[in-house]
Amino acid sequence: MDYKDLANLIFPDAKEISYYEEKYPERNLPEGAIVTRFAPSPTGFVHIGGLYQALVARTVAKKTGGVFFLRVEDTDQKREVENGITGIVNSLKDFDMAPDEGMISETEEIGNYGPYKQSLRKDIYQAYAKYLLEQGKAYPCFCTPEELEETRKKQEIAKLRTGYYGVWAKCRNLSVEEMAEKIKNGENYVIRFKSPGREDRKIKHKDIIKGNVDFPENDLDIIIIKADGLPTYHFAHAVDDHLMRTTHVIRSDEWLSSVPLHLQLFQELGFKAPKYAHISPIMKNDNGGKRKLSKRKDPEAAVDYYKKEGIPAEAVKEYLLNIANSSFENWRKANPDKEIEEFDFQLNKMSVSGALFDMIKLLDIGKTVISKMTAEEVYEKSLDWAKQYDEELAEMLKAKEYALKVFGIERGNKKPRKDISKWADVKQNIEYMYDDKFYGKTQDYPYQVISEKENISKILKLYIEKYYDEKDDKQTWFDKIKALSVEMGYAVEVKEFKANPGKYKAHVGDVSTVLRVALTSRTNTPDMYEIMKVLGKDRVVKRLEKQIEANS
Ligand code: GLU
Repeated sequence: MDYKDLANLIFPDAKEISYYEEKYPERNLPEGAIVTRFAPSPTGFVHIGGLYQALVARTVAKKTGGVFFLRVEDTDQKREVENGITGIVNSLKDFDMAPDEGMISETEEIGNYGPYKQSLRKDIYQAYAKYLLEQGKAYPCFCTPEELEETRKKQEIAKLRTGYYGVWAKCRNLSVEEMAEKIKNGENYVIRFKSPGREDRKIKHKDIIKGNVDFPENDLDIIIIKADGLPTYHFAHAVDDHLMRTTHVIRSDEWLSSVPLHLQLFQELGFKAPKYAHISPIMKNDNGGKRKLSKRKDPEAAVDYYKKEGIPAEAVKEYLLNIANSSFENWRKANPDKEIEEFDFQLNKMSVSGALFDMIKLLDIGKTVISKMTAEEVYEKSLDWAKQYDEELAEMLKAKEYALKVFGIERGNKKPRKDISKWADVKQNIEYMYDDKFYGKTQDYPYQVISEKENISKILKLYIEKYYDEKDDKQTWFDKIKALSVEMGYAVEVKEFKANPGKYKAHVGDVSTVLRVALTSRTNTPDMYEIMKVLGKDRVVKRLEKQIEANS
């Protein structure tokens, strides 16, 4: 009996690996094209850090004319949730990041290098495990959980590294006959990798992001095929990324310490190893310290959060690129109108330590992104959002023509309005343009410098009776507010007001504020001239009169 017989006994039906090598040939891509992937477990939940990795991977693939694929790593069946793949596929879609290949729904996929769901690749893993078994580079291990636990305890007491290695790797030294005997007797077993490594030797690894790192060689005989016949992450990673012809593995830096093992697996399997880029996690300030964004503690860790809040996907992506490459910010300043795809992203310029998550900055980017949209886009996107998350807003937006006018205020010009950072802001930002909302809360107006009812009413009356003409152009309109200020004894210029303290009680700006507050119930709005145009004469007059009435 030799290794070959043992391999045949364990995996009698497994194919020769040459079958798979031919079935999944080298990809025919231009020189330098990066083939990379996003490889989540199907828990349905996408962490913002996962989206960050996927964005980086997709960006470099696109930039080089390569391929970005979605592989679902479902070999840990305990962690599965129902419709877990759909959640991931939809999240990528929400961010306009659908993969070129891989899973596109719970059960469907596209591309020639599949299946892209690991649980459907059992035969493939077994073929490669058989290949290792045949060469004596893997072996069945019959140790029970109790035995392993006992070994661990002994190692702890002796203050040794824990794990299955060297003299502790009991099954490593069984003879082929003994192994075959146990299998025939129906004993449970897993398949372990027979590591050729030595802990006292170092390997050098050059990570694209982390740079040069030294590690001791791997000497652990890790499990490659579990008792349920499915592979472990490590083995599946080597087999899949080889057969899917991945050139770059871009993943979380929690895997950095597994690199020695992974390189060894590639070596023993006879594969060319991919390049690795290990991404640092996104961090958060917490009580003076820094910690990883946590699924449990931070709602913003889930990508669904951004969708629910209505933070535009473009803003989230732009923000993530900002933290990925520090040169992005200057590029954006110099190229405010370019698409993010045009940015020359550099994988090797990513920061070695974790970037701090900054919601204020993200919302600020949201404002800029939305300010560049047309009224029509703002309308469509806020309506889409409202249909899912805010019925009242959806109802307000039913009158499309009017909504377009409202969103069109101060938009499309050089300095567009920048008051909306996310779709959840929209209602609050436009509600005063809707009479039922406006009249619903007219009591407590935040009048400012000019706050005496009498003066307010006087201004409003004068305005309606003497100065307001719907047909005025903007200059005439403003000249009239100035004239009104003069008539009331207020300074006609802010400068003049400041130069002569004590001479005036208020200035033209304060008069405008009175009009603005009476019209909108706010002190801060986009351009008042445009607001008046959209409201139209009758509604303007009615709003001002209502205030006069309330003051009397
Ligand atoms: N399934 C692994 C994870 O979610 C993937 C790591 C990788 O990208 O290789 O952490």
